Amino acid sequence: MYIKVLVELSAFNIDKAFTYHVPNKYVDQVKIGIRVLVPFNNQKLEGFVLEIIDNIDEGYDIKDIIDVIDSEVILNNELLDLGKWLSNETLSTLISSYQVMLPKALKAKNGSKINIKYSKMIEIDNLNMEFSDKQQEIINKINEKGRCLYSELKKINSSVDTLLKKGILRKIEVEEYRREKNENVDYPIHELNTDQKKVYYEVVNSLNKNINYLLFGITGSGKTEVYIKIMEKVIENGKKCLLLIPEITLTNQILKRIEARFNKVAILHSGLSDGERFDEYRKIKRGEVDIVIGTRSSVFAPLSNLGIIIIDECHSENFKQDVMPRYDAIEVSKERCKYHDCPLILGSATPTIDMYARASKGLYKLLVLDKRAGNAHLPKISICDMTEEERINKTLFSKTLYTKIHEKLNKNEQIILLQNRRGYSSTLMCSNCGYVMKCPNCDIPLTYHKNKDIMRCHYCGYANKKDLVCPKCQENMKDLGSGTEKIEEEIHNLFPKARVIRMDLDTTTKKGSHDKIITAFKNYEYDILLGTQMISKGLDFPNVTLVGILNADTSLFIPSYLSSENTYSLISQVAGRSGRSEKEGEVVIQTFNPDHYAIVLAKSNNYLAFYEKEMQERLFGKYPPFFYLCEVIIKSVDYDFLSKEVNKIKNILENRQPDKIIIGPSMMYPFKVNNVNRFSILIKYKKENNLKNNLKDLIEHYKSNNKIKIEISFNPRDI
Ligand code: ADP
Ligand code: ZN
Repeated sequence: MYIKVLVELSAFNIDKAFTYHVPNKYVDQVKIGIRVLVPFNNQKLEGFVLEIIDNIDEGYDIKDIIDVIDSEVILNNELLDLGKWLSNETLSTLISSYQVMLPKALKAKNGSKINIKYSKMIEIDNLNMEFSDKQQEIINKINEKGRCLYSELKKINSSVDTLLKKGILRKIEVEEYRREKNENVDYPIHELNTDQKKVYYEVVNSLNKNINYLLFGITGSGKTEVYIKIMEKVIENGKKCLLLIPEITLTNQILKRIEARFNKVAILHSGLSDGERFDEYRKIKRGEVDIVIGTRSSVFAPLSNLGIIIIDECHSENFKQDVMPRYDAIEVSKERCKYHDCPLILGSATPTIDMYARASKGLYKLLVLDKRAGNAHLPKISICDMTEEERINKTLFSKTLYTKIHEKLNKNEQIILLQNRRGYSSTLMCSNCGYVMKCPNCDIPLTYHKNKDIMRCHYCGYANKKDLVCPKCQENMKDLGSGTEKIEEEIHNLFPKARVIRMDLDTTTKKGSHDKIITAFKNYEYDILLGTQMISKGLDFPNVTLVGILNADTSLFIPSYLSSENTYSLISQVAGRSGRSEKEGEVVIQTFNPDHYAIVLAKSNNYLAFYEKEMQERLFGKYPPFFYLCEVIIKSVDYDFLSKEVNKIKNILENRQPDKIIIGPSMMYPFKVNNVNRFSILIKYKKENNLKNNLKDLIEHYKSNNKIKIEISFNPRDI
């Protein structure tokens, strides 16, 4: 028997399946979709079996496999095909496409194994013997449950060992799932209102059809409640549900709500340990759960009879992965739903312009919820013109926001403040010569972090002591800008009695910290939650009646065609955290650009007007949805070599694709990351017209040159 094996190394020049011979002793164990260990250029590598072939042409040297790793198939037929599709769609290596689908425990990687955890359980073996009262106590305990943990029995008394020796009890090993269960919380079950019912019936009446829906429902309109009811129906029909969410921040809140209604739920996200992830994955594969909740990569969850995929907050850029394979979880979902012949629901209060345009053209079926559920109303939004407003003690707080915060604190209501930048200040600069301290590996300024008193690079993690004085001219270094940490300090000064908790990347590095912060705030252990955009989406705190956006301009002036869309969405989303119960909610937006349409229209919650206006901008700028975008990323450590090659590449593309608009090459920001220089070329086009083949040729041309790396990103969300 011979097999074709795709090995673990991800490089275009070896990204194909190599032939190996299977010695007789392994023949019965080898199946398509399992991992094997093989010799490869003096190394031992793991790889996936993609094909079994009985006979091959004689004549060249074929090596034996070294070992068989799995007894169960890891890549089933659906995933095998999905990987091929993914690699072709994103122009990534096939191996990277398979690896991204799997938890670490099941990736092909020699020398990294994650264990299955077993617990020692005790059962009754033979009761036809005599025992003492003390021993009886142990036996009663086991009789109660059928099976007990050895460690628990040991705590009762030590006679468990004697009973084991006598053969009255026996020890067995049972697989254990590591994730700790949340305590069950009660969550009110609502009868769906008329609008919700309309959406519900629309979907459940065609559960066996592959329809892509866009559920455009304002914040608090009861989308989640509708998802739950739809999933109930899907499960009733004997099928499984996949619910994707954009951030780990939201997992526990949604998980508690889902677990209040359903028993068999698994979660998948990067906040779990590798062991926990492995366990959740096995549960899913064994068909032990009805619902999988997870972030981007859980779109590959091995559910074999999928009945629906729901993508909540589908506008989030987090659904697009920004390293190879640069896939979009929404596109992958469409592919999986096609395979399973089931619906896909994209849900958002602020769909991307692209999504709404598709819905307008009938490519997505539009479902609308335009009122808040229950007795809640949308909050009152006011814009605070920072060019005119008086500031309190030179802080970032306007008088308006300051006064409102005081009011709410006095009424024992809670406040969310959004600052879209982390660290104490964005950077330190010399007040005399303008020197800033930069990362030696990446071409960007370091950020000052006050609690650890260090300068840190947000790209590679490099850290160093701060300069007190400028190394060039010995003048004092000065703070520029304000991050969350500095604002926290300002809040302490302005509102000394207020209890403040901060949520950003720095305070959430530890496992479980997201949930701790959210739960503590929900339990009213704090008055003010200060955070970056990670607090903007999906959170539901009934006692929050004021949301303050400290600087709405941060996202407005990021040089990206998506800056208005992102600003509109950020404001609407974070505003949506206010006034979610009977209490009236308010929002204050501080901005230096009070007349910008993204801000004005977010204030009046007029998505359709924003959509119309933004469509004109996109048409004018030749951007999506009128043009497709494709970014060609070209990287090298060698700057001189790279700058010559990027111009060559541009010329090749221009010659081969005269029908397309080709922009660049331009230096990416930051230009250097981890000592690798990066250029990009942007392609705008209306018709594919052989683009993919030309890009494949390009990759093919450079694939054996290890000085240069080319990566492609279709529909990039970060330019
Ligand atoms: P969304 O997901 O659209 O933000 P949710 O489903 O979280 O909305 O609902 C917002 C709030 O309204 C929640 O507190 C929820 O319990 C409540 N809610 C949802 N549906 C109803 C309903 N039909 N009647 C009363 N309250 C509802
Ligand atoms: Zn760096």
